[in-house]
Amino acid sequence: MTQLDVPILGEPAGSALPADAGHEGKGEIHLVHLYPREMSIYGDLGNTRCLAARIRRHGYVPVVHQHHPGQPFPEQAHLVVGGGGQDSGQSTVEDDLARIADRLRGLAADGTPMLMICGMYQLFGNTFVTVDGRSLPGLGILDVTTRGNAQRMIGPVVLATDHGDVVGYENHSGSTVLGAGQAPFGRVRHGMGNNGTDGTEGAVAGHVIGSYLHGPVLPANPRLADALIGWAAEQATGRDFEPGQLDDEVARQAQTRQVQRLLR
Ligand code: GLN
Repeated sequence: MTQLDVPILGEPAGSALPADAGHEGKGEIHLVHLYPREMSIYGDLGNTRCLAARIRRHGYVPVVHQHHPGQPFPEQAHLVVGGGGQDSGQSTVEDDLARIADRLRGLAADGTPMLMICGMYQLFGNTFVTVDGRSLPGLGILDVTTRGNAQRMIGPVVLATDHGDVVGYENHSGSTVLGAGQAPFGRVRHGMGNNGTDGTEGAVAGHVIGSYLHGPVLPANPRLADALIGWAAEQATGRDFEPGQLDDEVARQAQTRQVQRLLR
């Protein structure tokens, strides 16, 4: 059932991650990581590790599936994540993404939470035109359009979002423009964001979030991680999210310090 050929949290390939003893009762949450080989740079695999660890600490059983090109898409998917990659990695996964497009669109329409970072964010939009003029069609789940530039946007970022301040790191040549009516994920307080000009960063539609923020972003922003997990828990169990008591004090202090440092 589970495909784990990149180790997550040191677990052996092909196994579900066990819940802490006594916490098995809240149910399984199936997490699908899209294209971990081609699309996972600047530590984005850390988002999957963070989600799996927090799901377990909240008392649910995380089941991590890695979706590779050509494989059947997992039957159960309560949370879907994708990371950044080079333009070449994006070209490599294009055909497979078109193959699973209807499934992803259906899951998104049903309220399945998704977090797509950088290169995968671009491919969840309408089109990504690379710096050398190739046009990669996207899924159109987010109404955004991206065009590659000679100049890259690189550096630390602070955003104001519905999940509080979010900190991360951006590195992209793609400049993204939101369609009319498309909500951004956040407002830029420090950094460049979608295009360096309109003050927007990322995009959000329902429970689907696209963002340029690496870091990885979720360990640095536990509130955002728990929003995704909460929605996934509701999808998985049909019940309200039943969070555990997690100690996020170190992450909170690190985040506060980064916000103060960058906004000073
Ligand atoms: N190739 C894309 C760009 O540079 C995505 C980069 C990334 O995922 N970090 O815009």
